[in-house]
Amino acid sequence: MRLAKIMVTAGPSTSDYSVIREMISAGADAFRINMSHGDPKQWSQFLDLINKANEELGVMVTRIADLEGPRIRLGEFSGLDVAPDQQVTFRYGSANEKEVPVDNRAFFMALKRGDRVLVDDGKVVLTVENVERESATLRVVSGSRLEPRKGVVVAGKEYDLPPLTEKDMQDLKFITSAGFDYIMASFVRDARHIEVLRKVLKDLGAPNMKVLAKIETPSGVRNIDSILDVVDGIVVARGDLGMHFPLEDIPVIQRRLIEAARRKLKPVFLATEIFMSMIERPLPTRGEISDVYAGIEEGVDGFLVTSETSIGRYPVEVVSWLSRVIEEANKNVRPRRVEPEVLDLDARISRGVVEMAQSVGASIVAYAADYDAARLIATFRPQAPVYVGVPNDALARLLGVLWGINAIVVDNAKSEEEGLAAMESKLRSMGIMGPGSLVVELSWSPDRSTAIVRVRQVF
Ligand code: PEP
Repeated sequence: MRLAKIMVTAGPSTSDYSVIREMISAGADAFRINMSHGDPKQWSQFLDLINKANEELGVMVTRIADLEGPRIRLGEFSGLDVAPDQQVTFRYGSANEKEVPVDNRAFFMALKRGDRVLVDDGKVVLTVENVERESATLRVVSGSRLEPRKGVVVAGKEYDLPPLTEKDMQDLKFITSAGFDYIMASFVRDARHIEVLRKVLKDLGAPNMKVLAKIETPSGVRNIDSILDVVDGIVVARGDLGMHFPLEDIPVIQRRLIEAARRKLKPVFLATEIFMSMIERPLPTRGEISDVYAGIEEGVDGFLVTSETSIGRYPVEVVSWLSRVIEEANKNVRPRRVEPEVLDLDARISRGVVEMAQSVGASIVAYAADYDAARLIATFRPQAPVYVGVPNDALARLLGVLWGINAIVVDNAKSEEEGLAAMESKLRSMGIMGPGSLVVELSWSPDRSTAIVRVRQVF
């Protein structure tokens, strides 16, 4: 029994079909394709492999497209070895052999003497000594090599860039035509960012696409409540957060963001350095395992694994270890209770159903023709699996990343009651429901005026 979900990132390490299949069999619930790397041809290849595995294994693994967003990177160059105390010149556009190119002028506009600059998630740290319009001299504090196309962050500062870049606009055309289930928006600073994205999605004919906001900058943290009001869920993106905030503050920020999402009854995922050591080693560290336990206690829907699966040596082992650790954590720790900011009638009923199931020690079986009905159940963090019948594959893939939800496609149900009856025969044939099972069943009357909740002992 595993309730928290596993999102993995596709990359060079997962380009083999057999690896993708094994990762799914080991417990991967969703694949993220990170548009910061690769091109539409490669993304299509990944998508085809995931779709093929979904079909062959009879599963509904979720497909997530992660927009690169307004990130500034080093340009194309052959790389530069550096050492602490060395002075380096960064320059917009093309640079000579001893200089480091940066791909956007906004970098130099943000810089001030004394700022700390982090390259490649902090692998190289520099301080700014002098700034010109299109160049700057910096002194290396730590690190040994600057590589092309790595992200550059000025600690605590954000670039004055529009929420969606030209590249994002192009990628959105690909995303909306290729068949993804969720979009992750990067560097979300405020609610307007999501509104701009939603407008573009509408213009592209995909107005209902679900959007998860990656919270990774100081303004994203500051504006979390208004962002949550307009987004479908958030990702606590610890990689970039760790470049803007002192590392020792990350656990507090993580906790605040998770709580904020849960107060608004929105899905929340914890990302980055989940099992970082497994990039090189076949098993996680004790500390990494404890981190997953902490995430479960704080109440995340699931975990997003990044480099461990995209470029790591053990992508399959990462998933099997994470699955194993979550399963154990689900037995031993309960998500902390968070009081919702607003509880409408649907939310109260969902909470009641979850509490009833908890109290009698039953699984929940429901039929839901829409996303929100199942999302509300998940937000109250049921302690046993929830089997939700849904009318189509698309909804099943959307729900697959939410805490505890096992979505099962039931074709042609004309009513929720009929859907529930079909669920029962499916669950019986799958061996999930049978003599001795105790279930709490939830369905709604056609006009949604009546919620029908039944506690059933199955004979
Ligand atoms: C992060 O910063 O934690 C993250 C998930 O973002 P990305 O992998 O896009 O850098």
